[in-house]
Amino acid sequence: MTRVIVGLGANLGDPVAALRGALAGLRAADGVEVVAASHLYVTAPVGPPQPDYLNAAVALETVLAPLDLLALLHALEAAARRVRVRGVRFGPRTLDLDILLWDGAAIDLPGLVVPHPRLVERRFALEPLVEIAPDATLPDGTPLAGVCAALPDQGVERLVERLDATMCCSHGEGRSRTAEG
Ligand code: ADP
Ligand code: MG
Repeated sequence: MTRVIVGLGANLGDPVAALRGALAGLRAADGVEVVAASHLYVTAPVGPPQPDYLNAAVALETVLAPLDLLALLHALEAAARRVRVRGVRFGPRTLDLDILLWDGAAIDLPGLVVPHPRLVERRFALEPLVEIAPDATLPDGTPLAGVCAALPDQGVERLVERLDATMCCSHGEGRSRTAEG
């Protein structure tokens, strides 16, 4: 069993439904067990002008090989009808699923680099990751909580709601903002 952190993002259509649909898809998949899910985060977009993102992270235990998990994530993206616009990087998407961490391993395969190459510069990925895996490190041992704390403000706001709608919020948890605004 390998412990993996997957980052989720969406900013088109119904982002809450897309992220929760992805959680359901991961739970239904063979060889994957979801062991933790973060709150939802509203985050300012990176790249061309586009709507704010909704982001979250999940921790998985999996027996899948890295490229097989990536194929599963791509299938879930396709199921959310994500269309990649040729030539546009970091463009808007109905669902983006990234492998952020793979145990303590560094992976460099065609089509898959882990830790995700831009993880250490992105609060929208790090904040939900650190929420569910506060002791997570890079393969060289660098604590990601420290990496996240050292980044400037990037317009990332934790919502009251969790990715997993069946987990209730405890009193005083999160901020007062909700997914509806
Ligand atoms: P990004 O997530 O960086 O905004 P995309 O979702 O468009 O970009 O992904 C482009 C490609 O990145 C995917 O086809 C995938 O093969 C590749 N990729 C490389 N490393 C990873 C990773 N760790 N997680 C997910 N995709 C990855
Ligand atoms: Mg991606």
